[in-house]
Amino acid sequence: MIHCLPIPTPFAVGRVNCYLIEDDPLTLVDTGPNSGKALDALERALAEHGRRIEDLQRIVITHQHLDHLGLVGILADRSRAEICALDLLAPVLEEFGAHAERDDELAEALMLRHGIPRDVVTALRSVSRSFRGWGGSAHVDRPLRDGETLEFADRRLQVQHRPGHSPSDTLFWDERRAQLIGGDHLIKHISSNPLISRPLGGRSGELGSGRPRALMMYMDSLRETRELPAEVVLAGHGEPVTEHAALIDERFRMHERRAAKIAALIAERPRTAYEIAQDLWGNVAVTQAFLTLSEVLGHVDLLIDRGEVREVEVGGVIRYESS
Ligand SMILES: [Zn+2]
Repeated sequence: MIHCLPIPTPFAVGRVNCYLIEDDPLTLVDTGPNSGKALDALERALAEHGRRIEDLQRIVITHQHLDHLGLVGILADRSRAEICALDLLAPVLEEFGAHAERDDELAEALMLRHGIPRDVVTALRSVSRSFRGWGGSAHVDRPLRDGETLEFADRRLQVQHRPGHSPSDTLFWDERRAQLIGGDHLIKHISSNPLISRPLGGRSGELGSGRPRALMMYMDSLRETRELPAEVVLAGHGEPVTEHAALIDERFRMHERRAAKIAALIAERPRTAYEIAQDLWGNVAVTQAFLTLSEVLGHVDLLIDRGEVREVEVGGVIRYESS
């Protein structure tokens, strides 16, 4: 039996779904953000199922975002549960603050390079820093390899690394029940943002001249998920997904439409990614500058890959033009 425990977050996305797996060991998937409110809600939700934090024997984390892992340190201390996470995620979980800082450095460099004004970048950096307290860290007792199986008395969950929404996205596949625990990989009511983030476990020079192509990576991951004979995907936010292949097809069509729109804007005249984001989303391109930049760059990557668009650098700022 798996229970969904929706835990409040201070973010626009609303509640995050944690999952209580009633099995041996008793397992919690994701923790909610690090706040008193989330902790209270989690304790109440566990109590509804006759459980306490101290009863948890295993905690599994689906990916590196703070709404999913913030309470991990507090829960680890109180429960002594075994903490499990993808091997690539382990160093992030062990030093969340330091990793978030380095992700912000990448975000800042990318924003400036793609035409976002310095004052907007500075403001966003301080917003991001103020969010960091909702994160948390814990020692990872059991780093998980892609493809390995996490055993329980009554189930086996196969670990599947499916990066894109974040570099550490991990799915847990119960083949016998045709049930997939999906984190934020596939959400019914919103398309998961392929956020640009530092590659994990890479060599220091990995960024090189390029940048992580988050949307392309995400679409490759979705193609693999589409092939799973899943009856249900238990998502990190919102309702469970029952028609995952149809939903994935819908996401692909949406990305194609968005890429075509961006190609048309670039065909009119060369533009920076920031200008494209403003054309598409107006003021949201300012208040959510990194999110919208990630969206634009993801689709521009598709166009570059198809040879429709090329990158031109003028004075340290990138512009895109039709090729
Ligand atoms: Zn997420």
